Amino acid sequence: MSDPIFIVDGMLGNLARWLRILGYDTMYCPLSDNIILEKAESEKRILLTKDKALFRSAIRKGVKSMLIDGGDIVDILLNIALTLNIRVKPQKTSRCPICNGHLNEVESNNVINLVPKNILSKNSVFWICRSCGKVYWHGSHWRLIASTLSRVDKMIKDVNKAKI
Ligand SMILES: [Zn+2]
Repeated sequence: MSDPIFIVDGMLGNLARWLRILGYDTMYCPLSDNIILEKAESEKRILLTKDKALFRSAIRKGVKSMLIDGGDIVDILLNIALTLNIRVKPQKTSRCPICNGHLNEVESNNVINLVPKNILSKNSVFWICRSCGKVYWHGSHWRLIASTLSRVDKMIKDVNKAKI
């Protein structure tokens, strides 16, 4: 089965970045409800929204949608994982958190002029966005991302264990 693809409303830019790290094609759409619904429908994207009225309009139109409750990113990812069965581990197929473009994995000699020297010497693997050109590496921020995702993963396992 192919991956679900998503569209998120203007309030969920942070969630969009997380879903892209997980490799999900996620469109961030800070535009009017009508445009969001049109795009969701025409591109068969699942709408994730915090807006109850938008959620109801989506359901009326037959657009797959999930209402996102408040809470921190751990709660939100847990809810989505339990409802839509998404994976919560970073993928080889991760997308650019900023623009949703595909990433190419490259070695350090491909990014010599693109990242600071101290970063270059500390990392051997980098990723370049095919769309916007931004370069990524697993720096200190990555440990936070990885630990957040492993917290979600553990909670999913706990929920599954507690199921009767
Ligand atoms: Zn990009």
